[in-house]
Amino acid sequence: MQHDQLKQDVGPEILQQRKVAIVGYGSQGEAHARNLADSGVEVRVGLRPGSSSREKAKAHGIPVADVGDAVAWADLVSVLIPDPAQPGVYEESIEPNLRPGATLLFAHGFNVHFGAITPPENVDVVLVAPKSPGPMLRREYVAGNGVPSLLAVHQDHTGEAEAIARSYAAGLGSDRAGVLTTTFAEETETDLFGEQAVLCGGASALIQAGFETLVEAGYQPEVAYFECLHELKLIVDLAYEHGLTGMRSRISDTAEFGDYVSGPRVIGEESRAAMKQILEEVRSGDFARRWIKESEGGGGEFQRLRAQAQGHPLEEVGSRLRARMAWLNGDES
Ligand code: NAD
Ligand code: MG
Repeated sequence: MQHDQLKQDVGPEILQQRKVAIVGYGSQGEAHARNLADSGVEVRVGLRPGSSSREKAKAHGIPVADVGDAVAWADLVSVLIPDPAQPGVYEESIEPNLRPGATLLFAHGFNVHFGAITPPENVDVVLVAPKSPGPMLRREYVAGNGVPSLLAVHQDHTGEAEAIARSYAAGLGSDRAGVLTTTFAEETETDLFGEQAVLCGGASALIQAGFETLVEAGYQPEVAYFECLHELKLIVDLAYEHGLTGMRSRISDTAEFGDYVSGPRVIGEESRAAMKQILEEVRSGDFARRWIKESEGGGGEFQRLRAQAQGHPLEEVGSRLRARMAWLNGDES
């Protein structure tokens, strides 16, 4: 990096002058609300009347209101409910109550980028996306650290959109770990590509294919499970902490040599062509349209695919083996 793109000199002061409504109190919502409150920001949580999260937020000392009332009260509205639920709640309770000049903040660009939510012209629209699940965002803040965040401005009505978003990121603690400027398009497209091609889809398919190859060749499923799934954690942890070179310097020379000669055969031309195709479907909006239609239509295909995946032989072997791993606390949820 030529200069430090992650550094910022904006603190939580701008946000301390504003009222913040956090809509949703799940993974991100709880962490945002509590970190901001602890950073001296006035926060209210907006939830549905019957929401089971109401008691939890109150127990954490955060006032709770109906979504519409919290939005009408706020200078900044942070939309932290699940992405598929956002367009409905936005239309019904957020947009009708948004104050002119307010800031609308998202933690993922999906709905705005693909046009499922079109905010009015008289508000700022920004993105602050922490690169971690909510519990880690909270834990690091409490420990005096932070997790990095991506930041983007979609619409700057007030001329202060970026400064407000930076102040929000600082309130979360992300100024301590780094705030990287991006766009709604880049955040959304790379996020979808990453989870499909590498993190979730690619990694799961790699594990299953390796497992199937060994089992079909007559090896014990238990041994195949350890080899193709269980030990992956060790390798991922090493790469996460030390990069690929650092990981390779910590495995045996045999494993490292095999890595170089065989890895590119597994992920060869065919896989790269599939990755390009997946990226194209993400960029064109084809995947987003398919997913929105699927969510709106009751999720029939989604349920079918989920049931099919849950029936994979690797799942049964794995749950038996994990039940005896005391360090997992028997957590099979
Ligand atoms: P979540 O599923 O953990 O939280 C959902 C919350 O919204 C719950 O409190 C739930 O009760 C409430 N809710 C659900 N439906 C609702 C409705 N119709 N009306 C009102 N409230 C409703 O969600 P999350 O994982 O925290 O995701 C929130 C946003 O943050 C998403 O845009 C997501 O893409 C983004 N994000 C998530 C992570 C992550 O690691 N979880 C990381 C970065 C960004
Ligand atoms: Mg992601």
